Amino acid sequence: MSKESNEARATVRPSLGYFERVSRILDQAPTVVGALLSVLVSCASCGSPPAPAAAQQGKAPASNSVSSAALPAERPKFGTFGFDVAGMDRSVKPGDDFHAYANGRWIRANSIPPDRADWGTFEAGAEASIANVRSVIEEQVRAKNAHGTNAQRLADAYTAYLDVSAIDAKGLAPAKPYLDAIDAAKSLSDVVKLMGRADLPSNAPFSTFVWIDTKNTDRFVVFVEQSGLELPDRDFYLKKDAQFQETRKKYQANIAKVLAFAGDVNASSNASAIVALETQIAELHWPVADRRNRDTTYNPRTVAELEKEAPGFPWRAYLDALGYGEAPLVVKELSAMPKLARLFAATPVAKWKAYLEYHFLVNQAEVLPSALEAEVFDFYGKTLGGKSQQAERWKRGVAMINDGALGDAAGELYVARFFKASAKAETERLVENLRKAFAGRIQGVDWMTPETKRAAHEKLAAVRTKIGYPDKWKDYSALDIVPGDAFGNSLRASVWEQAEQRARLGKPSDRAAWYTTPQRVVAYNNPPFNEILFTAAILQPPFFDPNADAAVNYGAIGGVIGHELGHGFDDQGAKLDARGVLRPWWSKGDVDAFKARTDALAAQYDTFEPLPGLKVNGRLTLGENIGDLGGLTIAYTAYKLALDGKPAPVLDGLTGDQRFFLGWAQIHRSLQRDEALRNQIMSDPHSPAKYGVNGVVRNMDAWYSAFDIKPGDALYLAPNERVHIW
Ligand SMILES: [Zn+2]
Repeated sequence: MSKESNEARATVRPSLGYFERVSRILDQAPTVVGALLSVLVSCASCGSPPAPAAAQQGKAPASNSVSSAALPAERPKFGTFGFDVAGMDRSVKPGDDFHAYANGRWIRANSIPPDRADWGTFEAGAEASIANVRSVIEEQVRAKNAHGTNAQRLADAYTAYLDVSAIDAKGLAPAKPYLDAIDAAKSLSDVVKLMGRADLPSNAPFSTFVWIDTKNTDRFVVFVEQSGLELPDRDFYLKKDAQFQETRKKYQANIAKVLAFAGDVNASSNASAIVALETQIAELHWPVADRRNRDTTYNPRTVAELEKEAPGFPWRAYLDALGYGEAPLVVKELSAMPKLARLFAATPVAKWKAYLEYHFLVNQAEVLPSALEAEVFDFYGKTLGGKSQQAERWKRGVAMINDGALGDAAGELYVARFFKASAKAETERLVENLRKAFAGRIQGVDWMTPETKRAAHEKLAAVRTKIGYPDKWKDYSALDIVPGDAFGNSLRASVWEQAEQRARLGKPSDRAAWYTTPQRVVAYNNPPFNEILFTAAILQPPFFDPNADAAVNYGAIGGVIGHELGHGFDDQGAKLDARGVLRPWWSKGDVDAFKARTDALAAQYDTFEPLPGLKVNGRLTLGENIGDLGGLTIAYTAYKLALDGKPAPVLDGLTGDQRFFLGWAQIHRSLQRDEALRNQIMSDPHSPAKYGVNGVVRNMDAWYSAFDIKPGDALYLAPNERVHIW
């Protein structure tokens, strides 16, 4: 629903790991930067860890106990009832800019930390989680751990990563065998074998990942997709504007410096060759908005068929190197494949070698000499992200654990310390209230036929909910973490992750699996499993506060739950049935009526212009915007049901309906550097935070009456212009 701060791995550069790729599938997020799951992220603006007992010991949750005006005895984290009234800017008319009305003083009073590209609810939540995870990892570091235990893995991975002087002392020696292997390549077939090596993570014009077959959700298949670019989106290579030319110039300079660092005497000419090659790849890529389409990106193929349709790239050798053999494939951007394959064959081996070397060094920069890492940060952190300084090493160490192979090992310790069962029980209750409200809305719409409604009810009733943490943790017995070997640990983790993916093939899909970790501030909808998931770390203020007023909680976590439920019925999610299977289950007339509404919503977002000359892409962000609008509508209905006809109290002069909408606005607090905003607009399916508020509320009649919005207000839409889906 909102971007997850990708700060974790992006402290140096965006990671291209499995986690990100799967996240993109779950969220339909087509690119890496800034886009993770169908997220909603937790927060604690103050950044302090949740108080262990007092603050979390489950009181009777406020969410349904609205009959009394009395607030819970314990104080909520924000303001007196869960919303930070002091952060509002009442000089702004709510009808002109509701986001600024709700958050304006907070925005003025805060600034973005130098090591971050954004700052707001999401990032503060991530920061709190990182501090908590650090505390549990450091306990393992202090303990004596037998080799081969998770405690040892965590302690030694973290300690080795933090020991920069040991890393510096080794220089490039740990990378030498891999650079030599690249250097030894003589043919394109050698190049392809390198591209398939899990212990040599680099780039290639294609990438693969093992994921649920959306037409047979009981099994996994190998997805093949376009890849090979380092900048956030193809447009970064293709746009003629001065700022993009400048970014490309700096990118090329970075490549030259990184290659020169590794002793490449042709660093400068190789750098221009790599940018030229990636520009050719970019020209062949599908545009980002097209990559969301679930129908056109579902193209089952065998290896032999792919070899025939996209000749020039040795598919079998590549898939063999990855260990996939004859596993069934689903090709995503099918029409790009023959062109990319031809480009592969037409490009000299020497160019691919330089390309592989650069991307390998960048991928491993965190565990190579700090001078190299600083060079990498200079481009990826400063130029692309707008950050002025790198996050402290310990923070990056925690992120390395959280988002890397060992995420579950840390997560298990994190939930034992920081998660209370009461939050789970209360969220479960809220989900059921939202489900009931959604069912009522589906029943009430006039544009859907009874047959499609029946199927929609069936799908809604079948949505599974996962809350807090997984029932089963990952088994790390095959992952060897060696003290003092940061570089080797990183590559062994990469190999382990690849093996973990491969192991899914040929087995029934495990519906208990989690595709994120509980310490990440995330909620997602995983369409082929027809499930929604809320991590332990997201069930914190201001998303969820057991001591907050019900209206605020319904506007915040209620909106998030509604958003995730809504993804099951967004422009792409609606193509999957109750079992998560991609198949038509809507009547033609219903599809058309739905499309008329969602087209109108896309057209509204197309008009928003967050940066001069750069507008929101209504098609790219449509799924998220439908999730927002549907989600908040459902949450509002659920709030009204919870009131059960009784009047809501007035708190600090604010009515229940007003507090509901303010709760939604509060979780969208965000400051963003222009660079990060530009990346988001161009590559992320989530609309910038401001429009996640303003773009939604202006379509809800209840918001007009709650704040007395009138014609002439900037956000005002005449009743017939408002989009009502549910
Ligand atoms: Zn979402």
